[in-house]
Amino acid sequence: MHTPLRILFIAAEASPFVKIGGLGDVAGSLPPALKTLSPELDIRLVIPLHGAIRRSDYTLQAESVFDVSYSNGSIRAETFSLELNGVITYLISGSPISQDAPVYSGDNSVDGWKYTFFSLAALELARSLNWTPHIIHANDWHTAAAVYALQVNRNGDDFFQNTATLFGVHNLPYLGDGADTALGAFGLPPASGSPLPWWAQHMPLPLALLAADFIVTVSPNYAQEIMTPDFGVGLDGFLRMRRKSVTGILNGIDTDIWNPAEDPHLPENYDLNGISRRRENKSALQNEFNLKQDLKIPLISMISRMDYQKGVDLLPEALRQISDLDWQVIILGTGQADLEDEVYQIEREFPDRARAVIRFDPALSSRLFGGSDITLIPSRYEPCGLTQMIAMRYGCVPVARATGGLVDTIHDQVTGDPGTGFLFQDATPGSLAESLQRAIRVYQLQERWQKLQVNGMNTDFSWQYSARQYLSLYENLIQELNDH
Ligand code: ADP
Repeated sequence: MHTPLRILFIAAEASPFVKIGGLGDVAGSLPPALKTLSPELDIRLVIPLHGAIRRSDYTLQAESVFDVSYSNGSIRAETFSLELNGVITYLISGSPISQDAPVYSGDNSVDGWKYTFFSLAALELARSLNWTPHIIHANDWHTAAAVYALQVNRNGDDFFQNTATLFGVHNLPYLGDGADTALGAFGLPPASGSPLPWWAQHMPLPLALLAADFIVTVSPNYAQEIMTPDFGVGLDGFLRMRRKSVTGILNGIDTDIWNPAEDPHLPENYDLNGISRRRENKSALQNEFNLKQDLKIPLISMISRMDYQKGVDLLPEALRQISDLDWQVIILGTGQADLEDEVYQIEREFPDRARAVIRFDPALSSRLFGGSDITLIPSRYEPCGLTQMIAMRYGCVPVARATGGLVDTIHDQVTGDPGTGFLFQDATPGSLAESLQRAIRVYQLQERWQKLQVNGMNTDFSWQYSARQYLSLYENLIQELNDH
């Protein structure tokens, strides 16, 4: 008899419940997309019941209560459930998931305790429901313990005997260093003598890379990159050994939410047939930010976390190098104080054409995507990146570093076709400036520029395509394990 696949999808965050970064987008969008693609698929999502989740927004049903054991006894877990977008979602609470703590505290000894408890509780939840998943799909270091625990306890655990594990890597450098005490306390020892480098044998993410039946990154190019010294954070040798079990599937974006024809934040909505209406949005931005009202001047935006990863620090010198060209720039972002200062410095240096907006402001991000001509993504590494996909959907042309998912999603010009954006190779101000200069030159060629915009807007970045690939990955994984 054909049994529907049962998948337990475990993540630290998922929109709309709680979203801090790209992981929240994926965990919130992929399970419903899979369910739409294959209604019989029994995929269930499990996340912590963080303090940041507004319980009053949801009708939560009480589920099972059980204990998670650790070295000094046990900790009570209370679980709740609801169905959202066709996906049964479980939320787990318990004392390590403090209602006063942020989703990520930045202190892995604290977060390690919370997330190891959560990961093990997610497994116990399946047991308490007597619902054996065919696959546990865990994501990033926070839920790595679930994958490792299955391997450590596989012998003698009939319930999970045949459960396969898939580990999703959204950001490799976050290894979970500092969570080892928590892992130990919950009965998960270091993997001494394993093929992992010695320094990684007690860290959650490497342990999941070791234990998982299969590893998936959020773009095909990032899957290749993490097997190289430049991007492998010391795990590249180990990952090369596991090469056959590593793949990459591009994230999608929610094309209902990110839709210039209906985005409520835009002064003027438009679609592929009315790109010229973007002019109104550009004009509104120039007005809002007290920039010279001139539609011929290319308006550049940058919308980003202020993080070294994102290459924000390349910007001041790059702009200096093209200061003799006509441009305007609006930079929106928050994060590291020193990088925020650099952005303020740009505004001081170019008072008539640069604006710094240091805050998190989704409405403004929409207005920038819908009104600026070019958006900058000079990332040092980018596992997938959503910004470039959103920008292209809005007819805003990306100038981006040729790394990670940016390479998979942005096509630089080839003979005869302007592509969908501009890519540069080196994480240097010079390389960024050169690419930006190239973009500004093409911007003067109206017809060619419009072709660039149309190409971007015509690209399908919906989850549908990715969901299909995840479904095949699940099916292949089960097939392979059955064959062994
Ligand atoms: P990451 O997850 O590494 O931050 P992504 O490109 O995958 O990078 O996703 C970032 C998302 O957050 C994008 O949708 C981007 O527009 C948005 N974003 C980043 N900074 C801000 C901000 N200050 N205000 C509003 N949206 C922002």
